[in-house]
Amino acid sequence: MPELPEVETVRRGLEPAMEGARFVKVEARRPDLRWPLPKDFSRRIEGLVVTGLGRRGKYLLADLSSGDVLLMHLGMSGSFRVAVNGGETTPAEFHHERSNDFGHDHVVFHMSSGATITFNDPRRFGFMKLVPRHDLDRDPLMRSLGPEPLGNAFDAALLANACAGKKTSLKAALLDQKVVAGLGNIYVCEALHRARLSPKRRASTIASRNGAGNERAERLVEAVRAVLNDAIKQGGSSLRDHRQTTGELGYFQHHFRVYDREGARCPTKGCGGTVKRIVQSGRSTFFCPACQK
Ligand SMILES: [Zn+2]
Repeated sequence: MPELPEVETVRRGLEPAMEGARFVKVEARRPDLRWPLPKDFSRRIEGLVVTGLGRRGKYLLADLSSGDVLLMHLGMSGSFRVAVNGGETTPAEFHHERSNDFGHDHVVFHMSSGATITFNDPRRFGFMKLVPRHDLDRDPLMRSLGPEPLGNAFDAALLANACAGKKTSLKAALLDQKVVAGLGNIYVCEALHRARLSPKRRASTIASRNGAGNERAERLVEAVRAVLNDAIKQGGSSLRDHRQTTGELGYFQHHFRVYDREGARCPTKGCGGTVKRIVQSGRSTFFCPACQK
């Protein structure tokens, strides 16, 4: 599933084609993705201008000139293609597989910028939704989201406060979108490794007795930010020269320290440990038992 860095890279790829542009024609080739598309979807957004393209957690938020926000989620397998002047790009190299089957092109935006933006999603866990801007914070998808990990508000105190009293593992806490928005399995594993914290550690142990953030919380916040910023940088750099890499796997993989690297030598300097895979809540966790405590 795409995580924050992929979604942010997609946002940056779509921005020049969408921001300030009008929807000239919108093709909804099927009535539903994960959920039904909004009623009269095409008719409701044709003619509107995208005044801004933002992101919250793993959601893309296109502000429309009507005062609505077009909320888009990539689900498990969703991706966008941007065709302009005969060339086509696919923003962001994803870890997950992307389809090159045009039969899964479900929604097509023809923009006044000259760009054609196609949403492809074989498994159809993605979705699009229209929400009035003034109701956005109250939307069920938005209102429970925790802080943006790259935002100013996210710090050790906030993270520790969210984890204080939690009996779950640190890994489970970081995957909880109420604790922090946008992290998934990959970047949680990577951040915990960077912070040298065990994914099995109790979440509450990053808070001191009075609920304030301790030194572990400081380390973890720093690691989360670093991991995300690095991944965005990698994704961004692939935008320039990149054409239709549909289905290609593993760009970020080269940059993973532990994720999907079971049996590999731990990359922490002087550690000498071996990356281990365990299963937590039904999902793989990769970590180094030697340096992650
Ligand atoms: Zn190690």
